Formats: sequence, C-alpha cells, structure tokens
Amino acid sequence: QHMMEIRQLNCQPMTMKVTYYKSPVFIHQGHMQWLWDTDGKRYLDFFAGVATVSVGHCNPKVTAVAVAQMKRLWHTTCIYVTPPLQEYCEKLASLLPDPLKVVYLTNSGSEANDLAMLMARLHTGNHDMISLRGSYHGGSQQTMALTSNSAFKYPVANGGCTATMCPDVFRGPWGGSHCRDSPVQTIRTCDCPQGQCMANDKYIGQLDETFATSLPSRVAGFFAEPIQGMGAAVQYPKDYLKQAYQRVRERGGVCIADEVQTGFGRTGSHFWGFQGHEVMPDIVTMAKGIAGGFPMGALVTTPEIAAAFSKGAHFNTYGGNPMACSIASSVLDVIKEDGTQQNSLVVGTYLLTELAKLRDKHEIIGDVRGKGLQIGVEMVEDKVSRTPLSLAAMNNIFEDTKDMGVLIGKGGVYGQNFRVQPPMCVTKDDADYFLAVFDRSIQNYMD
Ligand code: PMP
Repeated sequence: QHMMEIRQLNCQPMTMKVTYYKSPVFIHQGHMQWLWDTDGKRYLDFFAGVATVSVGHCNPKVTAVAVAQMKRLWHTTCIYVTPPLQEYCEKLASLLPDPLKVVYLTNSGSEANDLAMLMARLHTGNHDMISLRGSYHGGSQQTMALTSNSAFKYPVANGGCTATMCPDVFRGPWGGSHCRDSPVQTIRTCDCPQGQCMANDKYIGQLDETFATSLPSRVAGFFAEPIQGMGAAVQYPKDYLKQAYQRVRERGGVCIADEVQTGFGRTGSHFWGFQGHEVMPDIVTMAKGIAGGFPMGALVTTPEIAAAFSKGAHFNTYGGNPMACSIASSVLDVIKEDGTQQNSLVVGTYLLTELAKLRDKHEIIGDVRGKGLQIGVEMVEDKVSRTPLSLAAMNNIFEDTKDMGVLIGKGGVYGQNFRVQPPMCVTKDDADYFLAVFDRSIQNYMD
C-alpha cells in the first residue's frame, strides 16, 4: 500500500517530500515536540516541519481556539472583515516598530515575498532586486529567482534553469563563510565568533562592485534573511546588514527582511531577527512559525509603501481567512503566556554551548553556529581540509539519528549541514536527548 502511494507521489513534482529520508516516514500524530509514525514509533522533533511548528504540534491551547473557530466560520474572502482578521492585524502590528504598521495577509512565505517584490517595484519605480548567496526566499517563479541555491530550481530543455538567471535579480556577495575568499565556499576558515567577524569591508566592497557592474540603474529591493535558514544558520559579519541597507537606500531601493524562519522569537534574543542587526526594514515578510503549521504568511510595511500599492486591486482569496487568523492569534498568545521566546534563548544557548563541545570532540564537525533555536552544524571531512562531508556520510548520520528517534534537518549549498530548529517548546532534557543521539550517530559513523 505504501509503495503504491509513493509511486503515485513520484509521478508528481513532490519527490523531495518522499526521498528526504532513505525510507519514508509516515507521521500520523503529534503532540508538542513529539511525533508518532503509523507504527507507533515516537520521535523527538528537532526540525519542527522546517522551523514551522513554533509552539508545538497540536498545542492544546491553539487547538482549542482552532476547533472553536472551525465551528463558527471558515471563510469569507478578503472582501469582508472578520473579528479574527481585525484582532490579528492589530496584534501583529503592535509587535512591529513604527512605521511598520500596515499588514497584508497571505498563505505562504513565497506569496509574501512575491508581494514584497511587487510593492518594492511599485513604490520605487525601479525594477532590479538583490538577494544574497545561500539565501532561500521561496518556490514561486519570482521568488525562485531570488533564491540562491540551484537545488531548488528546475532544469529546462535548453540547459538553463527556470528562474535561475531572471535578468532583473542580482546576487549580492554574502552567503556562507564570512572568512573565506571563495564566494561559493561555505566552510569557515577562521575562528572568530559568529556575527562578530570584522572582515566586513570585503563583503561590503563586493556589494559595491555588484552595484557598479550589474546595477548601473537604481535598485528596487534588497532581500535578506536576518540569519539564513536553508543555508543552515549562516550569519553575517557585524554591521554588514546596516551598511548594506544604507547603500541600497542611497540608490533608491527598499530593504526587505525575510523573517519567514527567524520571526516569532526563534532567535531567542529578539522577537524579530532584524532587531539583532539594529536595522529598520521597509518591508517585513513572515510565514512558517506565524501559525505553528497552519498555512499562513504575512507582510508588514509602512503606510507610504502601502499607498503605492493601492494603484492596483490587490486580491487574495484565502489570505486573512478567519481560521488562519484565529490560529495565528492564539500562537501569539501562547508565545507571550508561555515565555516561548525566552525558552528559545535558554535552550538554544545551551544547545550551542553543548554542540560546540561536540565540535571540539569530533573531527568531522567543522562549525556550530546560530542564535536561539536557529542552529546549523557544518560537517567536514576533517578540520584541516574543511572539505564538505560527503553526502553518503551525511545521510548515514542523518538516518542513524532518525532511527534512534530524533528528527533533524539538512541544508547548505553542498548539503553538508545539519539543521537544528525544534519547536520552541523544547526543554533542556530534550536538548540532552538530542545531543546524546547526535553524538552517538557521529561516533557510529566514525567507528
Ligand atoms: N523565505 C524563507 C527564509 C524560507 O525559509 C521559506 C521556506 N523555506 C520561504 C521564504 C518560502 O516560504 P513557503 O514555503 O511558505 O512559501
């Protein structure tokens, strides 16, 4: 029965979903940080459905709100206002600094970023976009062009890739190691603390070069994740974003913070990732953790930028539907009531400290980085060559970890990173369990 279903899935462009694990895992139940497969095996979820299940699977408080709303009203389209919509927009806007007060609701992160591109173009009258190496901004045609990693683009007959070289998107220099000359290499070669590296001038210089060589005209928008997600928690040197924002604005562009992974307290120290860089974006996009797994996305911007958007008729059938809004509202309540952001900081900091010990213990852990519960572990053949660990070895450790009951993620340009992004309700005991299993999987591989 399972094999038949898989073949059917394979006929559609959904193969990644079933080949993520060597043998497919059929998950049918979840509670907070725990998942159960159809055979009743329990897993500790340290990937949260790609950093999405922010306050835990089927969080009882959120579930109660969702069930009540499901009995009351599902849908009206955005031509009517509903109480959940009004309440949620007010709550969300109150969490962003002035003048970021105008909220648009979508169904995904890609849709929110598509909207941001359109808004940036309408507002500035310019066309060109800049995104960074190692970035991921979505899977729609437009956002696929912003996304850096070619693994997420589709080959086409003439040897090119759909949206790879969309002529109006230019890739900025950042992404990956902040200490290495090769622009595509992601292995760090110096030991300065993440986010504190002062090798900043070089990257800002490369951004200037991008402007000089590729963007003689004015720019419309600059997209950056405050900490890269799919890139596996890649951080920027201190003040990099500050200086990049300044240069983009000097050329008439707007700055977009893609908070799809970093928002809602995941980085621990701040509710929004951009706050950790002391910058003020013109547009903030978000999704994933916003509604803990229910499909939803949002964009928040200034009244000035929103005004330019009123030139056309914006319509989104499901965006802002009462189900998503009441769930997202409840997620915000839980984050506040349960101290979820603080938990991200405490458990995340503990994990980073303990993973750094594993890095010192194992020759094949090249780097441990991140903030709060946005963590990446970069795997290498050895610490001298820093060659990315082979995919076969990565899979071996990944599968072993899964077999021992812990689910983690993969990422990075060469697929050489493990991603640790659990639901934000995990405890220190969960962290210890994950660390023991991860340590054992690596040891098993080394033996
Ligand atoms: N931006 C970032 C930073 C993401 O990680 C993702 C999804 N991985 C997206 C945008 C796209 O979001 P969605 O899959 O909801 O369209």
